[in-house]
Amino acid sequence: MAYNDTTRTMYQQTLQGLKDAGLFKQERYIHSPQAADIEVEYPSGSALKKVINICANNYLGLSSHPDVVKAAHEGLDTRGYGMSSVRFICGTQDIHRELERRVSDFLGTEDTILFPSCMDANAGVFEAILTKDDVMISDRLVHASLIDGIRLCSAMQDTYKHADMAHLESKLEMHQGRRHRLVITDGVFSMDGDTAPLDKMVELGEKYNAMILVDESHASGFMGKTGRGTHEKYGVLGKIDVITTTFGKALGGATGGCVSGHKELVEMCRQKARPYLFSNTIAPVVVTGILRVFEILTASTERRDKLERNAAYWRKGLTEAGFVLKEGDTPIVPVMLFNAKLAQDFSRALYDEGVYAVGFFFPVVPQGQARIRTQLSAGHEIHHLDKALDAFVKAGKKFNILGKTKQEIIEMYGN
Ligand SMILES: *Cc1c(COP(=O)(O)O)cnc(C)c1O
Repeated sequence: MAYNDTTRTMYQQTLQGLKDAGLFKQERYIHSPQAADIEVEYPSGSALKKVINICANNYLGLSSHPDVVKAAHEGLDTRGYGMSSVRFICGTQDIHRELERRVSDFLGTEDTILFPSCMDANAGVFEAILTKDDVMISDRLVHASLIDGIRLCSAMQDTYKHADMAHLESKLEMHQGRRHRLVITDGVFSMDGDTAPLDKMVELGEKYNAMILVDESHASGFMGKTGRGTHEKYGVLGKIDVITTTFGKALGGATGGCVSGHKELVEMCRQKARPYLFSNTIAPVVVTGILRVFEILTASTERRDKLERNAAYWRKGLTEAGFVLKEGDTPIVPVMLFNAKLAQDFSRALYDEGVYAVGFFFPVVPQGQARIRTQLSAGHEIHHLDKALDAFVKAGKKFNILGKTKQEIIEMYGN
């Protein structure tokens, strides 16, 4: 028996090490649909508590929208539950292709290919479109799934300092000898809530003959005047070579991702991307749900407008209360606490006040930059936000951090 006492002890010690370092992640069980108000069992075994959720990626409040749920039911009735196949064998329905067209229209691209998740899209896209003669130049703060996709690709790897265009330019200059240059960034960075300067990146791409790939997982559906994404916000619709995004956040929040862009690049993915070739089709019920999401989004900008108003209201409220925030104009509003334990204790105090928001600390964010990341939703009403603000103020008073600067908070709690 290979899994003997020594092996078991080794894993137990490693896990205990995570607990001792305050880095063990404990899940909380939600007993209700995803929404602004949720019912949570936490700690495990305790009575259910009704709390306001302010940390979901449910930006547009569509995760449990009745029309989306209805469309999913219709998909279930007309196309069944599962396909039991990858796309190229017998897993492509008419609705999969319909969704690919729909996404292309929305993002302003030539074609789109669906993946089981955006993690899979990012895992597959690089090796499908690049070779060892090429170079990938990525922002140093890109999402973990992009980092993994880059690792799986034989092209040369390089990075530039976060959103630093001068540094990117020097790297582009340096790599002029390569066949293709692919610049890689998130559109909206999920930990800080800031955006990539896509207008400048497109200029650099033209000047140095480089393609640009943007992961729009925290942007699709609400960034820009009509919610197309960060490329709309920066006025470069139609100028991004490759967009990857998820259906697991604003766009209904179920599951699935895609690669969207020039039709040849998309076709390369269909022929070569391993997570597409070797993992199951997105379930029909999810596809019909997402199709309905796009109908809602193209009928009116009401939801993204409301999200924008909610985010502004929330930011203003927290600023006036005296919290240290990360600057930005996205619905991701990080409340900076700097110390990991403080972030966890603060999260617990919020929970006691009926607000669900988790603490983020190393290694999810850099050492000494622990925080509560709040995320707004079009599903929030002003009464949710006012109640959540009250809870933040109470917790802020409890830990005596209101009106304190970064330096003062670090002096009190360390970092
Ligand atoms: C969430 C996220 C992903 C992963 O999306 P899934 O569809 O859940 O796999 C990829 N990239 C970024 C930037 C994300 O935020």
